[in-house]
Amino acid sequence: MPGPVEKGVLYVVATPIGNLEDITLRALRVLREADLIACEDTRHTRKLLDHYEIARPVLSYHEHNEQERARELVEKLEQGLSVAQVSDAGMPGIADPGYRVIKLAIERGIPVRPVPGPSAAITALAGGGLPTDSFEFLGFLPARSGQRRTLIERLRSASATVVLYEAPHRIRETLAEIVEVLGHERPVVIARELTKVHEEFLRGTAGELLERIGDRELKGEITLLIGRCEGPTSQALGSRSAADLNQRLQQIMREQGFDEKSALKILARELGQPRSEVYRELLRVRSRKKP
Ligand code: SAM
Repeated sequence: MPGPVEKGVLYVVATPIGNLEDITLRALRVLREADLIACEDTRHTRKLLDHYEIARPVLSYHEHNEQERARELVEKLEQGLSVAQVSDAGMPGIADPGYRVIKLAIERGIPVRPVPGPSAAITALAGGGLPTDSFEFLGFLPARSGQRRTLIERLRSASATVVLYEAPHRIRETLAEIVEVLGHERPVVIARELTKVHEEFLRGTAGELLERIGDRELKGEITLLIGRCEGPTSQALGSRSAADLNQRLQQIMREQGFDEKSALKILARELGQPRSEVYRELLRVRSRKKP
């Protein structure tokens, strides 16, 4: 059992991602006993603190003042205060500010103790139903369409489930891009409003989900899971995926200046498939194009 809250220690405390009951007994004790609570938005954290009748001094740190606040917080820790660091939701530092404070504290030799709890990424993985033996967390998808496209293209040959945070107003566009780049059959899970009243998991292939969503406006917070590449010999290689192969081959030739043979070698490596198998698929799509 960890003892009472220690002086001069930075506690990195996970808070709920929706349901206020999702907070550990240890997190509550640390928040109750810490000399200072460093939070992103004081109004937001106050709601949680009020719910649990916790009245401790708070100090805000966020993306724009984190560098400066990190120095202030570390000074307070060096003076012997105990500090509990929280973010608006989930685990601080995970696609959230917090990293700079933690890094500076470590550099100054201040003990850093994580107090684990919810995180949207892990919660989505736990209920999503895609393989969890290995996964890659990529944080927020870039807002700019070019960068987003580049990132999605990188996922063609992903060998682990991919976890992303995405804004609700962009989810349809993103799904359409996934269909276009990764193919209609790529497994996808949209985990929406996790742990809240309107929690919802939309599971299926990218193409199915795009159709199912139709004109529906998806609101709230979304974590997106993309299943790993199952290779061109699996069912995932519908006609669209085969066309994608050809597109990717052309891209490698264009961008890296390779002839078709060398580009094919690279493509096969990306897909983790024998070159002959990939070549056969390419011939299939090319013969389909002929009149
Ligand atoms: N630090 C947090 C964590 O550990 O999960 C993540 C903070 S990040 C700024 C917020 C993003 O996480 C949201 O835009 C959304 O993509 C995802 N998220 C947070 N809460 C969620 C929830 N209840 N359901 C689904 N996704 C959620």
